[in-house]
Amino acid sequence: MADAQNKKWLPSIQGWSWIITIVWVAIANLWHPFGLYGLVCMFTPIIIALSGRGKMHCARICPRGSFIGLFTRKISIGLKKPAFMKSRAFHWALWGVMMGAFAGLLVWSVPKGVYIVGNTILVFMEAATVLAFLFGILFTPRAWCTVCPMGFTSGNLRGLVERASKEKPQ
Ligand code: SF4
Repeated sequence: MADAQNKKWLPSIQGWSWIITIVWVAIANLWHPFGLYGLVCMFTPIIIALSGRGKMHCARICPRGSFIGLFTRKISIGLKKPAFMKSRAFHWALWGVMMGAFAGLLVWSVPKGVYIVGNTILVFMEAATVLAFLFGILFTPRAWCTVCPMGFTSGNLRGLVERASKEKPQ
């Protein structure tokens, strides 16, 4: 694992990265194999966290975070998030349900070919984005980011990388 000390973060692109979400959804709906690009969105936060840059993806890059932040800003009604949603148990449960569903869908779709796999990833990520959008409307614009399985994964990896980096012999 990478040394987590002194890793530089990229400047933020979240002022415009929401465009990536719209372009991807538009193209992938027209040509389903492009749905596979969704895997890039899923693995980038993991790779970045393993590189020792913690949640740089969430804070500076994530197209979905940028999208929900921008488009729910004016319509968010700002309800208080229920206390149970702040618990680790809820984060793990949501992570398990979403990752389990995603893995199951991949197992089902891969034998059916690239069009079905691409469309499956697209539909899964569209559903997650709708959920994120609902969180944004009900709570605060980026409320989804406090429970998002990919953000949770990269946060956990950040902890692991930092611990490994501290334990490394100097
Ligand atoms: S928590 Fe999820 S949706 Fe939010 S910025 Fe991170 S990866 Fe994107």
